[in-house]
Amino acid sequence: MKFATKAIHAGQEPDPSTGAIMTPIYQTSTYVQTGIGEHKGYEYARSGNPTRTALESCLAELENGKYGLSFASGLAAENAVLSLLNPGDHIVSCDDLYGGTYRLFERIVGRYNITTDYVQVGDTAGYAKAIRPNTKMIWLETPTNPLLRLADIQAVAQIAHQHNILLVVDNTFATPYFQQPLELGADIVVHSTTKYINGHSDLIGGAVILNDEQVYEKIKFHQNAAGAVPGPFDVWLTLRGIKTLAVRMRQHQQNALAIARFLSEHPRVESVYYPGLASHPDYVLAKQQMSGSGGMVSFQFKGTIDDVDTVVRRFKVFSFAESLGGVESLVCHPASMTHGSIPKEIREARGVNDTLLRVSVGIEDAEDLIADLDQALTQDIFTGYTAQKELASKP
Ligand SMILES: *Cc1c(COP(=O)(O)O)cnc(C)c1O
Repeated sequence: MKFATKAIHAGQEPDPSTGAIMTPIYQTSTYVQTGIGEHKGYEYARSGNPTRTALESCLAELENGKYGLSFASGLAAENAVLSLLNPGDHIVSCDDLYGGTYRLFERIVGRYNITTDYVQVGDTAGYAKAIRPNTKMIWLETPTNPLLRLADIQAVAQIAHQHNILLVVDNTFATPYFQQPLELGADIVVHSTTKYINGHSDLIGGAVILNDEQVYEKIKFHQNAAGAVPGPFDVWLTLRGIKTLAVRMRQHQQNALAIARFLSEHPRVESVYYPGLASHPDYVLAKQQMSGSGGMVSFQFKGTIDDVDTVVRRFKVFSFAESLGGVESLVCHPASMTHGSIPKEIREARGVNDTLLRVSVGIEDAEDLIADLDQALTQDIFTGYTAQKELASKP
């Protein structure tokens, strides 16, 4: 079956007892058992829930993986993957990373003496050089957030496997519609399903997809033993969102390309980061490992941080908010929002400075979006504005 068909049908048989075409929301904490050790496959809802099973099977099929596991958030999914590591182990990660993932590495798993080194995301040889005898995992996010740089998944997978190391890819930005890391040699895919997979900005969720049975059993054990499971209603909403993933992603991408082209010509825009533009440094790699370039566009504004503050207050169709991947368009200021937990020097060294804006392009009419950007970026407003903004790192 092809992607759009799987998105609608995989894991979702009509309910056997009633014929209901939609998977029911099994809003229950426990399941009646007939006798000692005799039940219908479900005992307690932390361990398993039929609505969750449907979502997990569907996600596995979309990523062309054997096993799927869903979690209460993207970070809970990442934490479950990191539970494969022991004190003394080492992670090699790309540097241009979701802020919460960086915080998880540094301030949660770091306390268990699991250390992380960061490699410039596109520096394939750098990953090999950073490997130590205790390295157990390579972690990639591609395309990255917020600069949309790419890592060569296939090349890094080869390096990982030469050293018997697991390769994890955060596929949140691309989604399986545009990129299938397991097919390119990755061992584990993680998602914040909060974003495109659910697609409607109405829940927090995460997922892990993989092929290896032993690794699956370990992560599944953690899912139940540590307990960061999603509730049945959120799982059901996610299943509902997935049904339109293919059409949504096509429209996100069409709008994003139009906006990236518009911004490239705009006099108040210094530079535009979008892998679907021929000017993007990873344009060729994007064409090789992705079937589309997605819906995220970042750009460097020409002006001061005060000007940026004025711009974000002027949007009428776009909303100024964290997060991404919903049907509505959002603008975010990474330095103070998503990447606020990364120390300023480290953040700026990675190119995330105070005048960078990131756009999650929604599926509204592209002409309305462009008109809104145009009025917000218009020059006349950047005079005499004196707001004092001192950007400190978030705690
Ligand atoms: C949002 C996000 C996460 C974290 O997911 P939550 O659902 O917010 O916990 C991880 N990785 C990327 C790339 C994200 O955008």
